[in-house]
Amino acid sequence: MPDRVGNQPVIDDEEVLVGIRKWVEVETPSPDGDAVNRLVDIVQSDAVALGMQIARIPGRDGYGDILTVRSPWGGDGPGILVLCHLDTVHAVGVLEKDNPYRREGDRVYGPGIFDMKSGAYLAFYAFQHLVRAGLKTTLPITFLYVPEEEIGSPTSRQMIEDTARQNKYVLVTEPAHGGLCCTARKGVLHAGIKIHGRPAHAGSRHQDGRSALRELARHIVALEDLTDYERGITVNVGLASGGSFINVVPAEAEAKVCIRAPETSMLDELRDHVLSLQPIGPDVTLEITAEINRPVFPRGPGTVQLFKHAKEICREVGFELDERHSGGGSDGNFTAALGIPTLDGLGADGHGHHTLDEYILFSSLAPRARMWVRLFESLT
Ligand SMILES: [Zn+2]
Repeated sequence: MPDRVGNQPVIDDEEVLVGIRKWVEVETPSPDGDAVNRLVDIVQSDAVALGMQIARIPGRDGYGDILTVRSPWGGDGPGILVLCHLDTVHAVGVLEKDNPYRREGDRVYGPGIFDMKSGAYLAFYAFQHLVRAGLKTTLPITFLYVPEEEIGSPTSRQMIEDTARQNKYVLVTEPAHGGLCCTARKGVLHAGIKIHGRPAHAGSRHQDGRSALRELARHIVALEDLTDYERGITVNVGLASGGSFINVVPAEAEAKVCIRAPETSMLDELRDHVLSLQPIGPDVTLEITAEINRPVFPRGPGTVQLFKHAKEICREVGFELDERHSGGGSDGNFTAALGIPTLDGLGADGHGHHTLDEYILFSSLAPRARMWVRLFESLT
């Protein structure tokens, strides 16, 4: 098979799928650093085989290692950063039981295949295509593989931001929902509320008790009422617990809250609001934490320019690339918030991320691989 027809790369999509399968069949739940490192080993040895420069930082807090892989050309100057995560939300064993690797028509199933092993592999494959064809890009290319994006990147955030600052563009290999890439994402605020009440016998001394659960319930309703779909604000109390026994007035209760908003000012306002919550009932105390987990990914001018360029490239390789504003966060939030042109959602097309039946569309692999090759070649 020739490498090119005109300026268009020729892609063997069956070969691409073989590579994706290899990555999917190493299960990598974020909290299991050893499991994630088994895939880091594979990516590292594949990259070494292509002559790439490797830097690997040992994992912290039980998470896997952080792997940086750089093209052998282009020197130390600013270039293209390809941002990938190797972890998934699926526990070890899902591959065997709930979502085995399989191909049904155009759909290819497997844990983490859509989010984001196919995307991460597509970008790697495109790089390999260049090396095999003896081609070099104008800009150096750096791949950063992080081990715990699905947890919010607690151990890799600093590295992501530092590496992004050394580059001109950031391309993120998150999945492409409905073929759309992502040029903006909401910011995410995580809050925790703990209520301390007063225990009492639920029958004989009920009037002496101060129910922490009752207090929490009122805050939950008030918080969720802050949801405003028109302004793009969502408040989700995702976890709540409390009490110790059915016939004891509950002395303790707590909840965890995920708040999302499209603008930094809204997120700041919501954080201040949560931090200033006061007890509603008598004789209870509140303990509140609130921090921005992912900053807003703004649709900045550099990102818009990068999107326009990618759109042209995609037209040449045979598909229409459109953009969307996502409610979900990614590591792209960190880099876009620094003002670095960031294009996200450049992985394979498919469906069902974070579910037990996620899949990719095989037909999206060849056009997307061509897009990656042409993006690498054309960015200056
Ligand atoms: Zn992802």
